[in-house]
Amino acid sequence: MSTGAELNASMLDRIRHDLVGLRMPRALEALDHIVRRLEHGEIGALEAVDILLSEELTLRENSRIKTALRMGRLATIKTLAGFDFTFQPSLDRDRILTLAQLGFVARGEVVHFLGPPGTGKSHLATALGVEAVKAGRSVYFCTLADLLASLARSEREGRLQERIRFFCRPVLLIVDEIGYLPVVHDGGNLFFQLVNARYERGSMILTSNRGFAEWGEVFGDAVVATALLDRLLHHAVVVQIEGSSYRLRQHAELMPEHVRSKAVLTAPGPVADAKRRGRPPKNGHASHMGAPA
Ligand code: ADP
Ligand code: MG
Repeated sequence: MSTGAELNASMLDRIRHDLVGLRMPRALEALDHIVRRLEHGEIGALEAVDILLSEELTLRENSRIKTALRMGRLATIKTLAGFDFTFQPSLDRDRILTLAQLGFVARGEVVHFLGPPGTGKSHLATALGVEAVKAGRSVYFCTLADLLASLARSEREGRLQERIRFFCRPVLLIVDEIGYLPVVHDGGNLFFQLVNARYERGSMILTSNRGFAEWGEVFGDAVVATALLDRLLHHAVVVQIEGSSYRLRQHAELMPEHVRSKAVLTAPGPVADAKRRGRPPKNGHASHMGAPA
């Protein structure tokens, strides 16, 4: 007759074998430690099962999130926890935290973040995207320039509708940096086709350093801009940030006082941008500091 210890050992072997078969690597890894705690009377049998399963679940959840963030092009991870609301007093913290509850995603609404460069528009858009990914929603992040380049390429290849369907798939589409660069020829039209396809179906977050009144100029076509805004403002939340640049603050702190006060008068980069409230020069290229991070 086999001893209790032998029985335990063969049962553990079987469990290990099953965990491999079930593809539960984290549970397999944690098994010995959990059994030891069980033998020492630190935990009961139910708790042991609970810990084993939740270890595996946590691993799966983390890798799901990692994959979804990569697929959604949310490369630079910004979080709401990492956002300093005291630096941006014009911003209603509760309003942002409400957005993080993702009701706007469920309702297919559009959130606009408007404000000068460096005020945290991309940060907040990304952070809300991260929240949506964590909640299991599909998200895709792109800049307007990248989106339009992609749509234009697909149109040349005769696959525009396919590409529009691709950008309609994510429940939340984030389009960053509207207004930094001039929209290429026909770009407004392509963007309109996408916006129209997503209208009342999928949610969007848009960020812009230009007011809505300037969209005619941004898209080089007043009619297209009006049609875009008609859709994009219908079920919309507009968050206007009125503060100063966080980037500039960091630079200012690195500079000695006498340079700093001079910089405020003469610096061609960040300060000039802040004064222009992000309007790119007429040649269409944002200056190096105004250029989006
Ligand atoms: P915008 O898109 O409005 O130009 P960003 O969101 O890219 O500005 O912000 C510029 C940089 O400053 C980013 O690295 C961002 O994480 C950081 N930042 C901006 N505002 C804040 C803030 N209030 N708290 C913490 N970091 C911030
Ligand atoms: Mg930005």
